[in-house]
Amino acid sequence: MASLGHVAVGVAAGSWRGERARERVVYIVLFTALSLLPDADVIAFALDIPYEHAFGHRGASHSLIAALAIGALLLVRPAPDRMKTAAFGAIVTASHGLLDALTDGGLGVALFWPFTDARYFAPWRPIPVAPIGAGLVSSRGLYVMAVEAVMFTPLWIAAAWPWIRALRAGRGGT
Ligand SMILES: [Zn+2]
Repeated sequence: MASLGHVAVGVAAGSWRGERARERVVYIVLFTALSLLPDADVIAFALDIPYEHAFGHRGASHSLIAALAIGALLLVRPAPDRMKTAAFGAIVTASHGLLDALTDGGLGVALFWPFTDARYFAPWRPIPVAPIGAGLVSSRGLYVMAVEAVMFTPLWIAAAWPWIRALRAGRGGT
């Protein structure tokens, strides 16, 4: 994916997780970072780790176990509502691999690593795969971004809703 869909998940999760505007902004930053985090594995290409390797792109970092580990890390924070934040964090991170499995190209996703290195795709793959890295700034990359912008409209609306609700209630500040 061209990341726009992943960002939509992070922004929507942050908007719904926070009670006040400032909290929502903090959670949007956190969850957007987590929604994109699995793609930090593109460093594998620079390290000559093959795409199909367990630690290659769409490998271990895209697994459901990695998402659970992120959730567990969020539990370390001493806050009364940390369970809720950890659950949101794990779901947002897991959504990355699941959404990548809906794309129509590249290799599948190692969703069940470390139990198996097998790569999986969803039976229905409506999301066009994005070119990796600088290829995103190309006609193909822009096409994928446009498709994602439209496809994820429901999430953008969901993200906007808590802000609209707060403005209507006159408590959008702080
Ligand atoms: Zn990915």
